[in-house]
Amino acid sequence: MRLLLVDDDELDRMAVVRVLHNPNLVKDIVHASTAVSALKLYDESTFDIVLLDYLLPDMECLDVLSQLTQHTEKHAAVVILTGMEDNAVIERTCIVAGAQDFLLKKELSERHLTKALVHAQARHELNNQLLETHKRLKYLAENDPMTGLSNRYYFEEHLHGSIQRAQRFNIQLGLIYLDIDNFKLVNDSKGHDSGDQLLQKIAQRLLEVVREGDVVCRLGGDEFAIIVHGLDAETSSGILAQRIIENLRLPITINNTEHFVTCSIGIATYPRCAMTAEDMLKNADLAMYQVKREGRDGFHFFTGALKEQVLHRIMLEDELRSQRLQSQIVQHYQPIINAKNLQVCGAEMLMRWDHPTRGLLLPGEFIGVVEELGFLDAIDTKNRQLACNQLALWRSIGLVDDQFVLGVNVSESLLRQENVPNEIQKDMAAAGLPGECLSIEVTESVLVSDFEKTSAFLNRIKAFGVKVAIDDFGTGYSSMAYLKWLPATILKVDRSFVQNVPESQADCRVLKAIIIMAKSLGLEVIVEGVETAEQARLCQEYGADMLQGFLFSQSLSPHDFAKFLKAHNPETYKLNTLE
Ligand code: GH3
Ligand code: MG
Repeated sequence: MRLLLVDDDELDRMAVVRVLHNPNLVKDIVHASTAVSALKLYDESTFDIVLLDYLLPDMECLDVLSQLTQHTEKHAAVVILTGMEDNAVIERTCIVAGAQDFLLKKELSERHLTKALVHAQARHELNNQLLETHKRLKYLAENDPMTGLSNRYYFEEHLHGSIQRAQRFNIQLGLIYLDIDNFKLVNDSKGHDSGDQLLQKIAQRLLEVVREGDVVCRLGGDEFAIIVHGLDAETSSGILAQRIIENLRLPITINNTEHFVTCSIGIATYPRCAMTAEDMLKNADLAMYQVKREGRDGFHFFTGALKEQVLHRIMLEDELRSQRLQSQIVQHYQPIINAKNLQVCGAEMLMRWDHPTRGLLLPGEFIGVVEELGFLDAIDTKNRQLACNQLALWRSIGLVDDQFVLGVNVSESLLRQENVPNEIQKDMAAAGLPGECLSIEVTESVLVSDFEKTSAFLNRIKAFGVKVAIDDFGTGYSSMAYLKWLPATILKVDRSFVQNVPESQADCRVLKAIIIMAKSLGLEVIVEGVETAEQARLCQEYGADMLQGFLFSQSLSPHDFAKFLKAHNPETYKLNTLE
């Protein structure tokens, strides 16, 4: 055992040396007569035990003790030696401050001192073991074993502390919340082990891009968080988010395979977006959710407006998931007018969500969510069946004639399903309708995305008389060349081609050219979005077959549509009837 003997009184030191003549116990004794020299020696050398006089001329014993016990590298047992009278209070104070034992000089004997040193050392070793165990447990509790990053527990503790500090020093704090995009695909295609390795490499990348002092944590799964400190935390969070996105985009190689990772990031800042750790996390998560909704691979700062938007969307999703939805989707009908005689010759069925508190919602407000949740096929199918039944009813009471054609939309996913043409045929047969009175509307972009398969589908439904209309023509940037190959019978010219007619000469010429081109391919032409009599007149003049738009009517409930049919009078539009 190596001993550091600290006492200003040389005689007292000699007394200790005399008592400690057992060379098996203490091999080396180093003397210090002041606290300062003792601390210096302690720093420079290694001791197993310090025998420390309670009364030193240059420092308080408790201060020396605290410097000894809180030393980051050196750990020796400390026994306090005092020449004072027995004092239980001082003894307790020294033990609480970290000394292992307390000895009166007047009791100094070989037996006493040896016992004190041995016990002190044993206690000290036990303390060290406890300390190590505690450190290990703390590490396990605060770290993610797979990536080595801090874990969610540490993150939450640290964020709480950081907010308190930011409050005290009036500084900003940024929270970057990050979720890897489509991570499940890696697990599914390359296996869980590759997924784990990828997470480890992502963690490394994150550590590489952050500034010193920023804390990177793995919250769980493929979610990470970074706490950004500093006066300009708000600005630097945005810059860091961009850097992370760019850095993660660089390929990551695992088992000779390159992975291209993108992520979605939400940022919340203190004090602008949130005042508590819980709100910061919630708001950053909300902003991240919005990035996911918008197609992933990007970042958003949390704002009040964004919160409104996301909550609205979440509410929609919850409502849409509930069983009530199916009964709240209603079918409305927009009249289609024969351009020559201005009689009603058909209609397009358009769905609406008859929301119990917010009234009629247009498809644009909910169709994206419906599609994402996988409900669109079921809704489309039901809409089609109900529309067939509606048409059959109107025909049976003589409200529409045999020439009346009802247009219904078919989702992209239905177009890819083998059995759907047969389903359509069955629906029509069930309603007692011939094929000719139905037209299936398909958007141009859907057609082009899988031309072969879609064409085969459309040819099958055309075979039993159903018409095929290309919807929103002109918005999908498809080549005109496609048109001649498509099994289409009707072309619906998008509203954007008519909205600046007649003011824009160029638009008039484009509209005319599209109509002439479609007619030359043997297609019937419906112009959508006709709002004024002049637009209708020009469409007539250019040779359009049918017109659809607010000039005639918006979409109507079945009841209002029936009223419209009964009241319709071509004369009211002050256009020439060409027949
Ligand atoms: P999104 O773009 O919507 O985030 O889709 P995602 O596929 O990334 O899915 P999400 O973030 O919702 O879920 C993360 C997935 O990561 C879930 C789980 O399959 C996988 N995962 C979670 N923890 C681990 C892990 O420790 N190792 C591996 N290999 N995969 C994990
Ligand atoms: Mg993910």
